Amino acid sequence: MAKLVMGELTWPELAAELEHIKVALVPVGSCEQHGPNTTFITDAARASAYAERLAERCGNKVVVFPCVTYGLSLHHMDFPGTVTLRVETMMNLLEDIGVSIAKHGIKKILFLNAHGGNFPALEGAVINLKQLHGVDAYWSAVGSEISLGGLTGLPKLIGHACEVETSSALYLCPEVVREERVPGILQDSMLTRDSFVKGGGAWSWKNDASLNGALGDARKATWEIGKEMTEASLEYMEKIVDEIIARP
Ligand SMILES: [Zn+2]
Repeated sequence: MAKLVMGELTWPELAAELEHIKVALVPVGSCEQHGPNTTFITDAARASAYAERLAERCGNKVVVFPCVTYGLSLHHMDFPGTVTLRVETMMNLLEDIGVSIAKHGIKKILFLNAHGGNFPALEGAVINLKQLHGVDAYWSAVGSEISLGGLTGLPKLIGHACEVETSSALYLCPEVVREERVPGILQDSMLTRDSFVKGGGAWSWKNDASLNGALGDARKATWEIGKEMTEASLEYMEKIVDEIIARP
């Protein structure tokens, strides 16, 4: 099915499709260190590719907007190159995007997020969009709702630049993955310290999670695992899009 993507459309072309479009898909990523194996745009590239694959399934009832390529990465600032927004900056950014899209008649927004640290801003923006602006907004992770496929014996710490995320990247955006890969240098203190609190920004990555910025063992990542996880997630998300459309 033909997909609608803003980067490939002029305004008259979009205007001609507006009556069919029910949901705007907005990918959300980060500019954040991903260890020695995957590049800074890993989350943004995964979110964008995921959104386009979902659009291929959904056809002209959805349109993919350009990715939000910066996110909440305060906890990764020990590594050179990471850029972070403040929570309020990101909330305002997401809210402005949602309000703008709704003004043009697409009243339902689904943010597709590939970076766990963004949760607080997404939650706040979605609440504000609904309650203050009457925009039917939602957000979802782009893979965590599915099983971990053929992965067994997963270590305690995964979720960032690990075998799971790297498999996802190998399937969705292989250009961000290095061919030669090394395992993460894990720090257990994140799991054992008494003062552990929820929230990605509440701890420092280098001291608490991994010395080289990677969790797990990205050498175990494969295209096949990425395909299994991603296609299962897309199948689920396709139903979610229909549920969102059906909601009053
Ligand atoms: Zn990531």
